[in-house]
Amino acid sequence: MIKNLEQFFLDNPPEKRAFIGGEYVEAADGAVMKKGNSYSGFDLSGIADCSEADVDLAVQAAKEAYESGAWSRLDVAKKKEIVLRFAELMEENREEIAALDTIETCRSFQNYYYDSIPKAIEAVRYFAEAVDKVYDKSICGRAGMHGIVKRVPLGVVGVITPWNDPMVVTMWKVIPSLLMGNSVVIKPAEQSSLSTIRVAALMKEAGIPDGVVNVVPGRGEVAGKALALHMDVRGIFFTGSSEIGKKLLEYAGQSNMKKVGLECGGKGPYIVSSKCGDIALAAKTLADNMFYNQGQICSAPSRVIAETSVKDAFIEELEKQCAVYVPDDPYSLESRVGCVVSREQYDKVQAYIAYARECGYTVYQPSDRGTMPEGACYILPTVISGLKPEDKLAKEEIFGPVVVILEAESVNEAVNMANASEYGLAGAVWTDDLNEAYDVAERVEVGLMHINSYGEDDNAAPFGGVKQSGLGKDKSSYAFDEYSDLKTIWMKFR
Ligand code: ADP
Repeated sequence: MIKNLEQFFLDNPPEKRAFIGGEYVEAADGAVMKKGNSYSGFDLSGIADCSEADVDLAVQAAKEAYESGAWSRLDVAKKKEIVLRFAELMEENREEIAALDTIETCRSFQNYYYDSIPKAIEAVRYFAEAVDKVYDKSICGRAGMHGIVKRVPLGVVGVITPWNDPMVVTMWKVIPSLLMGNSVVIKPAEQSSLSTIRVAALMKEAGIPDGVVNVVPGRGEVAGKALALHMDVRGIFFTGSSEIGKKLLEYAGQSNMKKVGLECGGKGPYIVSSKCGDIALAAKTLADNMFYNQGQICSAPSRVIAETSVKDAFIEELEKQCAVYVPDDPYSLESRVGCVVSREQYDKVQAYIAYARECGYTVYQPSDRGTMPEGACYILPTVISGLKPEDKLAKEEIFGPVVVILEAESVNEAVNMANASEYGLAGAVWTDDLNEAYDVAERVEVGLMHINSYGEDDNAAPFGGVKQSGLGKDKSSYAFDEYSDLKTIWMKFR
């Protein structure tokens, strides 16, 4: 196991170039991004800063590869074999991939190594195993005629990923795209490009032909925008903020009406009814799902709506749980929680906490502040109560370890509060009353609802939101529909 992450990368400098047509290449104009990480300032400068010219080259390579048919028309069984081989290679390189994500994002190495990277690998395997169980359909109701309704690839697909769970999100989108026969150009987040750059080589090693997978690191408003506006890109799939998600819809309209898939923000409502039978478990489950990545999770249960009779008991239990998630050295396999991703993100979250204090709300943070060095960007688990549902803290996605507690006089009021949000990604209701549980689960407007649980994860379950949380779904065999189109072929018999 790598003992000292920084020394490891000083001794083994990671690949920082773009990956186009099966080769690592510098940006056409030689530009690179400059940055240090959020824990120690470790220098990570030098990652290619791709421009429109590089995106053009990558799309061209992807288009040529697509048109050659070497991958797009390869037997499904062969595609499956290659993707399963890629999963094995990820497994063999799991430690290095986890280390790359850690050094860049400063989420804990423990979290990447034991949870996130294994999840990404499981997703790769799930899609590979699922693809040959997906059937096309036929229309047989007309005499002398037969219609085949088949899935066809889109062609060249662009994938724009976020920094909060780089490998998981990349695999959720890239693997079903590939299995449907598309060629892919990936624009990773500026904050987390290294793992994607690395796994591109593993895809090649597994047998994916050159040009089928390309990576163009760079800034969102340059490389991401160029990809989304490109006339030869037929689908753009994104995870990130709702603000940028809306821009992608505009870019699609301004260019070629490409298909758009968006997984955006959230403000997960977590309803605790007076009929909740285990307040301590409800609080622990919230903490487990809210604080593990410094709250940088789009589906985090960040908005508790508790009935008056259980609110104080819930807050008391939640405050106890906060101590479990005090951040510590992100490089250590012993630490559960590391830093927030960047100084910019740190300032944004701290400004929300400062605002809560200015407003006179009750702000709880654990007294144990951990042992992080001076300058490290970390935020203690924070619980804010005493605010109204109209407050910006209850409406905006903070994307940090900050939970707000709202009070409702009835479960009905809680549901109305839950739905008074622009977001609709994930939510929960805690109650021992089955009728109440099911009624609330049906009425809360989200893509993913939990009863007496949270964050239940299974590759077979679709993931994605409604309202301004997004369009379309990741995961499950439904994901294949996102990365393909339907074509009908009619046959007439004499
Ligand atoms: P966050 O605010 O959490 O960093 P963003 O939505 O800004 O999330 O970023 C998510 C991804 O979208 C990143 O890969 C980023 O580079 C990319 N991105 C940002 N702005 C644009 C844009 N204007 N066009 C295309 N992609 C963009």
